[in-house]
Amino acid sequence: MSSYEIAVLPGDGIGTEVMPEALRVLDAVRAEYGTEFRYRHFDWSCETYRETGRMMPADGIDRLRDHDSILLGAVGYPGVPDHVSLWGLLLPIRREFDQYVNLRPVRLLPGVTPPVRDKAPGDIDFWVVRENTEGEYSRLGGRQGEGTPAEMVLQTAVFTRHGTDRILRYAFEFAERIGKPHVTSGTKSNGIYHSMPYWDERFRAIAAEHPQVAVDQDHIDILCARFVMSPERFDVVVASNLFGDILSDLGPGVTGTIGVAPSGNINPERRFPSTFEPVHGSAPDIAGRGVANPIGQIWSAAMMLDHLGEQDAAADVVRAIESVLGAGAVRTPDLGGTASTADLGKAIAAEIGAA
Ligand code: ATP
Ligand code: MG
Repeated sequence: MSSYEIAVLPGDGIGTEVMPEALRVLDAVRAEYGTEFRYRHFDWSCETYRETGRMMPADGIDRLRDHDSILLGAVGYPGVPDHVSLWGLLLPIRREFDQYVNLRPVRLLPGVTPPVRDKAPGDIDFWVVRENTEGEYSRLGGRQGEGTPAEMVLQTAVFTRHGTDRILRYAFEFAERIGKPHVTSGTKSNGIYHSMPYWDERFRAIAAEHPQVAVDQDHIDILCARFVMSPERFDVVVASNLFGDILSDLGPGVTGTIGVAPSGNINPERRFPSTFEPVHGSAPDIAGRGVANPIGQIWSAAMMLDHLGEQDAAADVVRAIESVLGAGAVRTPDLGGTASTADLGKAIAAEIGAA
């Protein structure tokens, strides 16, 4: 029987409300599949920051290191600037644990009305793979001639062979593993002179290692239009840090509600723990009322199971989500219903193993 050590960080706001529902579903997985989870709970949050001046203790990274995975809720709260939670918690974890893949599914779930009309579940079902460590998000550059007529700012993007090849390889191997051998790359090589042609060149090289995978190379602008107009054409979409960031929010936007979207910050080799967290934030506007949609958190737990090698359990959690939403009886207000966070969590937990 497999056993996993999971670090649980609910964080702030609705993070503390949706996390118990993910753990409830994992309890049902344990009962059905015999998978053991050992949880260590960390209350690191903006509250911690207000009390101690830090988002996590100085040895925080070391305290997370031994875990198989990190399940995160949401961090951030009014009055605490976003860069505090980002640089004080999320980025150190991402960097120290070399989580170089950001992975998000884009899937229209049953019972969810998408903002684009005439789309049914099955029409929108693909994954965005974002490079998570380099590219456009670099600290290289600076200001010159400040205050003079020649004032200018340089911002340098960094694309290493190592960093580019490993994210592209991940995308191809992932596409093969999920049985959708088709990868689309988004760049802007007609406008960005050095980095994007380099990415295209490496894309073709890695594609040559995977001749059974079909490829498309789109410019990022038309790719965005196609996300909205013809999402059916995508299976796995891979892009640099900045372009991937944009695409991975556009995706959940196209599929309806932000409350259902999950994500993984992944170290594929499993040398370090990976982090799984909903796409949404702490949602202070609805926090404390027990109405947040827990599906983003529950689906994140499913992605965690998949990463840990528990594919059957992971697929069952996704099926349970779809089954409950498809039946339509239990919906939180963001989906047009009146159910509570716990009602929806319980309904999904009860569905585990029912197939
Ligand atoms: P940031 O992206 O900087 O964290 P934010 O905290 O305002 O910004 P979210 O917390 O994601 O962003 O909230 C955006 C909107 O989506 C809010 O109106 C919020 O109520 C709604 N929302 C987010 N998550 C959920 C959820 N799980 N269930 C229902 N509504 C949600
Ligand atoms: Mg937020």
